[in-house]
Amino acid sequence: MSYARTSEDVRPRDGHGVRNQLRINERTAYGQGCEIVATYEDNGRSASRAGVARPGFDRLIVDLSRGFTDRGQLIEGVVCTADDRLYRRADDLARFFAALTGRPGRIYVDPLGIKDPYSQEGLLQAVRSLEAAVTETRTRSRRLTDWHWARAVEGVPHSGPRPFGWQEDRITLHPDEAQFVERAILDRIGGKAARAIARDWCDLGVTGTRGGRPNAQTVTQIMTAPRVCGYRANRGELLLVPETRQPVLGQWEPIVPPDQWHAVCATFSPGSLYHHRGSGAPRRTGNERTAPRHLATGFLRCGAERRDGGACRGALCAQKGRSKQSPYVYTCRSCGRCSISGPLADQALERLLFSDAQSGMRLSGAERQSWQSGEMGIEEKQRIIASAFVCCVVRPGVKGTHSWDHSRVEPVWRCLDQAAPAGASV
Ligand SMILES: [Zn+2]
Repeated sequence: MSYARTSEDVRPRDGHGVRNQLRINERTAYGQGCEIVATYEDNGRSASRAGVARPGFDRLIVDLSRGFTDRGQLIEGVVCTADDRLYRRADDLARFFAALTGRPGRIYVDPLGIKDPYSQEGLLQAVRSLEAAVTETRTRSRRLTDWHWARAVEGVPHSGPRPFGWQEDRITLHPDEAQFVERAILDRIGGKAARAIARDWCDLGVTGTRGGRPNAQTVTQIMTAPRVCGYRANRGELLLVPETRQPVLGQWEPIVPPDQWHAVCATFSPGSLYHHRGSGAPRRTGNERTAPRHLATGFLRCGAERRDGGACRGALCAQKGRSKQSPYVYTCRSCGRCSISGPLADQALERLLFSDAQSGMRLSGAERQSWQSGEMGIEEKQRIIASAFVCCVVRPGVKGTHSWDHSRVEPVWRCLDQAAPAGASV
C-alpha cells in the first residue's frame, strides 16, 4: 500500500504534492520488486497538530490491522516517500507500528530502501524520524512566535482590523473616535455604566470599525485595551521592556495617559477585565474552561481497594491542602479513601517521565530541555503526559508516614510497548 500526504502550508513547487509522492512511491515499490495494491492520501492535512483528522491515514491503519484492502488484496508492506509523511507525533508512530507489525513478515519501504519494522534498528530509526519531526514542528512555531514578539517589543501596532480610535495607519488618532473613547473613559471613571456609554454611542450613530453596533462588551474592550494609553500587549499580556520592566510603548498616539487607563481598568472586576487579553483573543463568556493549574490533574486514578476487592479507579482531583509542604492534594472523588500530596504526585509523574527507559521515545531532546528550563507551559506538559501515560494509579498512603514515597504513583504507560517488537528493549 502506498501513502502520501501534504500539509496545508505546503508550496506547490517543493515537490511534496500528493500526486508526486504517489508517483515516487510507485517507482520505489517497482525498484524493490513490490506491487502497489492500494493508495491512501491526505491532501492538505497537518500531521503535527493534535486533533487534525487524516482520513487517509486512518483507513491505512484499519486496512493494515485487518491485513487486506477493501478489494480483498493482501497487504505485505507500506511504501512512503519519507517517515514524516506518515507520522509527526508519537501516538501516530505507535499506531502505525502496531498496525504494521500486527502480522509477521511485513516490510516498510522508502526511497532509501527496505526496512524491517520488526527489528530494533527499524524501530529506532522510526523514533529518530519522529524526534526530528517534532523538533522541526517546534522550531517552526517558535520562529513565528518570536517574530510576533520582536514586532511587539518594537511597539509595532497589531495587525488585524483597525482599532477603534485610530486611522488606517494604526498610528494616527481618528479625531472623532478618539474623542469618544476619551469621553467614555472619563465617564466610566466617574461611575457611568458601560451599558449607558454604549447607548450614548448608539444614539450618536457611532459604529465599530467593522460596522457593528456598540454594546457594553465592545465599549469595555475599547476602554480597557492597553493601547489607549500607548502600552503594547502581546498574546494577552502587557509587554514589558526586559531590562527596565517598564511597559513597552507603542509607536501610536495615545488617547489617555497611563494613570487614566489604570483607573478605568480598576472600575471593572477582574473577570471582566479586557486589558490582559490580546486583540485577537476570544471574548470571555464566563464559562470557558480555565487553564489547568495542577500538572497531574486528570491523570491520577484511585488505587484504594473496594469492598468487593477490586480497585476504586476513581479520578483524583486537586483540592486545597493544609500543609506548607502540600498546598494542594489530589483526592479521590469516588471513595475519598485515597489522597496524595499534590507536589509529591506532580514530582512523581515528572520523575517517571524523565527516568523511563523509553523516555527518549516519549520526549524529544528539545521537549526535555524546554520542560526542565521552565519554558514549557502546563498545557503542553499535559499533552506530553497524555501521550506517555494512559493514567497513573495512586496507592493509598500509610497513615502516619510523612516521608515522600514516589513509588505510590504507578504508571500505566501508553502503547509504545505495543509498537516495540516483542523482546526488544530500547
Ligand atoms: Zn477511590
